[in-house]
Amino acid sequence: MNRAALLFRLQSIEAEITEKERQIEEINNRMKEEETLITQRAKVENLRARREENRITLRDIELSLKGLEEKLKEAKQKLYGGHVRNPKELMSLEKEVQAMEGTYSRMEERLLELMEELEKESAELKDQEEKLREMEEAWQKEKESLLQEKAKLEKALERLHREREAVISTISPEDLRLYEQLRTRKGPRVVVYLKSLTCQGCGITIPTMLAQEAMVGNKLVLCPHCGRILFPV
Ligand SMILES: [Zn+2]
Repeated sequence: MNRAALLFRLQSIEAEITEKERQIEEINNRMKEEETLITQRAKVENLRARREENRITLRDIELSLKGLEEKLKEAKQKLYGGHVRNPKELMSLEKEVQAMEGTYSRMEERLLELMEELEKESAELKDQEEKLREMEEAWQKEKESLLQEKAKLEKALERLHREREAVISTISPEDLRLYEQLRTRKGPRVVVYLKSLTCQGCGITIPTMLAQEAMVGNKLVLCPHCGRILFPV
């Protein structure tokens, strides 16, 4: 086989290897991308904590209201029971009852507000929990398909590495050295087509003599302009 052709084959395999490795890397990155899910989980946790806090406050208010109700009852009994006759004392009792009634109605208002809030929060929490469940399900599915894709790529990569070894075993160490040197300097594309006297690496027309040498194939011919290995097609 033409020496340039072998190197061209090697170059194609290595390009494929690079591409597969890039795809695997991309999958690895996507597997890490759980950001939206993490944010949603935190959101649900926050909502739960806030609701729990409000539930506790609600219970506290309910207890206080009960206590206040008792006290109010006692004060009213005292006020209207007929035992207290002193006008001054009666007046102060009346004031006390009024103050307690004020507090009571304010607390009752707060209780109603809180109950409304809790209702809204519970609805919101339910929505967000549902959303989280859907996201988790979707993520699970995506993860599975990503893993399948990755397994496929890894298999292909193994095959490519075997192919690469096989091709390398047919290339002379001298040619391989030149190929590697050029790759270090010029990047991954160092073997290029030579099509009707034109180097496909840089577009220049090369002398007929050189093209003929390249066609014979028992020696590597470099483009005099860009220095890439010419592979006549
Ligand atoms: Zn060239």
